[in-house]
Amino acid sequence: MDPVGVAAAPDAGPGPAWQSKCPWGAPNTTSISCSLADVMSEQLAKELQLEEENAAFPEVVAVAEGPFITGENIDTSSDLMLAQMLQMEFDREYDAQLRREEKKINGDSKVSISFENYRKVHPYDSDSSEDEVDWQDTRHDPYRADKPTTTSRKGFIGKGKDITTKHDEVVCGRKNTARMENFAPEFQVGDGIGMDLKLSNQVFNALKQHAYSEERRSARLHEKKEHSTAEKAVDPKTRLLLYKMVNAGMLETITGCISTGKESVVFHAYGGNATEDKVIPPECAIKVFKTTLNEFKNRDKYIKDDYRFKDRFSKLNPRKIIRMWAEKEMHNLTRMQNAGIPCPQVVMLKKHVLVMSFIGQDQVPAPKLKDVTLSSEDMKKAYYQILNMMQQLYKECNLVHADLSEYNMLWHDGKVWLIDVSQSVEPTHPHGLEFLFRDCRNVSQFFQKGGVAEALNERELFNAVSGLNITADNEVDFQAEIEALEKMNEDHVQNHGKKLSMFSSDGDPPIYDE
Ligand code: ADP
Ligand code: MG
Repeated sequence: MDPVGVAAAPDAGPGPAWQSKCPWGAPNTTSISCSLADVMSEQLAKELQLEEENAAFPEVVAVAEGPFITGENIDTSSDLMLAQMLQMEFDREYDAQLRREEKKINGDSKVSISFENYRKVHPYDSDSSEDEVDWQDTRHDPYRADKPTTTSRKGFIGKGKDITTKHDEVVCGRKNTARMENFAPEFQVGDGIGMDLKLSNQVFNALKQHAYSEERRSARLHEKKEHSTAEKAVDPKTRLLLYKMVNAGMLETITGCISTGKESVVFHAYGGNATEDKVIPPECAIKVFKTTLNEFKNRDKYIKDDYRFKDRFSKLNPRKIIRMWAEKEMHNLTRMQNAGIPCPQVVMLKKHVLVMSFIGQDQVPAPKLKDVTLSSEDMKKAYYQILNMMQQLYKECNLVHADLSEYNMLWHDGKVWLIDVSQSVEPTHPHGLEFLFRDCRNVSQFFQKGGVAEALNERELFNAVSGLNITADNEVDFQAEIEALEKMNEDHVQNHGKKLSMFSSDGDPPIYDE
């Protein structure tokens, strides 16, 4: 391939002036301000890379091919460089082919031929892909360059009895030492050449194996580390999603992390510009459902048996199931919002990232009920509000929270706000009533301990919320009755293909209020 020929090839195609002169882009010294979308653009990334290469390459070429490069014809220099790069690629391929032929011809034979004289290695092409102890191929032996007296191209030096071949123990040992330089940079080999170390083939091969397995191990460790940091914050894909939200103007800034839980990370953000169909709250909470799957395994039962997601569940891969958690939280929050229950308002859902309104102010999230000290009056008020909300949730939203406790209720603006409803299910979920009973237990215990004398016990609360009239007066029997009811419902679904509405058979639950 003739570099000059390639350099002279005319360029066609539209584009800015500098592009039409040089399709690969001459270095552009003026800094261009561009949007995040531009930065994400693959095309721009390629152009930038080429610019960088073009900026770095002239120096190298200037040494090798000085006369071709001048300050004046900087525009054509990149054509030339490209041609030279192509030529280099071509030569590398050619050399690789020669090596293959050489190997094929020589096989295991002690006497070998070499094509070395036919190689087209460029002076600046010093990288070596060799990793075998291959006595035929001495091209990239750095040792030879330093001490050219070891062997000649013929494969031996000296005369008569004093002949030293390249198979000589000392020569091989030195070569092996020199080849250690090819190990990964982090693998410390010391200055073997300086101390004239001679490694036997056996030792060299063992070291080489070790170096490679270390390299693989360190790559694995690195990957693990990446994953664990992603677990603490977010992985690169999620980061990209968040950047896109900011870039699109939906969010102004993401200020920081509010909470890092087992299954999600929550960030605070300032809302961006409202669009035609969407008003974005001034402060937002971004809930990122973790894409590491382990934590979700034990939550299968919430979603797998939820008939709303049942058909889809079996067909989905784990990543998509995690998206369903976010989707589920969105749907549940919307139902609650429609019923007027104080809860975050959904702003948008993108894959496993849910943006909602922020409960709190000036980046400070509202405290959880477990962390706030309420006056006895507020405590009582909170209790009746929660009782009311549980009934609304059950009756109007057809939902059971399923993780209701002082950890998932925030105190803000003198009232309780419900959050964290990704696991909420409908009461007819095969375990829905058990979940409700657990919620009732948490609420009862919290308020009874908190000194609210009016607080119902968990069984009374359960009946008050569900409208069912389970009469068992101890927890074990009560739970057994709950499970029997669930089973009855399941059987009904099996036999009739639809759910019973028996959970409200005693009529609507009475609405408790202060
Ligand atoms: P997890 O499943 O990790 O418990 P949560 O939805 O409970 O997720 O959120 C974790 C924490 O993040 C909450 O305890 C609360 O402090 C905070 N948080 C979540 N959503 C909001 C919100 N909309 N506004 C303010 N803080 C929130
Ligand atoms: Mg929570």
